[in-house]
Amino acid sequence: MSTKSRKTIIAGNWKMHKTVSEARALVSALAAGIGSELAGETLPDIVLCPTFICLPEVVSAVKGSPMQVGAQNMDYRDSGAYTGEVAAPMLKDLGVTHVVIGHSERRQYFGETDASVNLKAKAALSHGLIPIVCVGETLEEREAGSTDDVVSRQVKAAIKDMSDADVAKIVVAYEPVWAIGTGKNCESPEANRVCKLIRSCLPASQADMVPILYGGSVKPSTIDEQMQQPDIDGALVGGASLKAEEFLPIIKGGAKRSKLMSTKA
Ligand code: PEP
Repeated sequence: MSTKSRKTIIAGNWKMHKTVSEARALVSALAAGIGSELAGETLPDIVLCPTFICLPEVVSAVKGSPMQVGAQNMDYRDSGAYTGEVAAPMLKDLGVTHVVIGHSERRQYFGETDASVNLKAKAALSHGLIPIVCVGETLEEREAGSTDDVVSRQVKAAIKDMSDADVAKIVVAYEPVWAIGTGKNCESPEANRVCKLIRSCLPASQADMVPILYGGSVKPSTIDEQMQQPDIDGALVGGASLKAEEFLPIIKGGAKRSKLMSTKA
């Protein structure tokens, strides 16, 4: 298996930003840019992840464009008395294709654990949603030299009791917590090294098929170098996904990788 079989994915995590009308305007600007400045490019998979409340509008607005839509979280149960939660069948019914699971902000502020990430990732797969499983070390963990242990633990826990066939359907995002929203990039060779480590934690038969994204202050000025790394298959982008003029050049960076992969033997 070669890198050729892996998709390039550029995903935008809008976090708790954008009203419904602002979301509509952003999708419209992205669609216009994709149709003009990115016309003829080998586009990567483009996934927009707005808030729950914007999902119906964004799903409807991306119709007829190459963009897909992801949620930022979900419950692992299918339904029930869980006030405030949203379940996988609801997302699927709406036309959502992806769901971010275990973002560090959810781990940090909302009690997400390795065990709940595993339950959610398996529930997403069982309903035909693609989980984008986020892993990454904090600054303290990096400074203590435990990056590799932390990331390996998170990846192995996320895929616990998952069939090899299901592992082949997931996406992993390596997001060093200290690089998220801080403007500090993890140097590309180091990000690539950790992405390669993540790949080594996956079953050998599936590892080459799983797209591994880098996330953490990705910008138009950093994307080309990041997309040149052999084990980084795309980007999960926060702040820079909120403006079409920043997200479009990032999609273009993904398109360059996509083209390279499609021509590689
Ligand atoms: C994120 O929210 O996943 C992220 C990587 O944010 P930012 O690009 O703003 O660092």
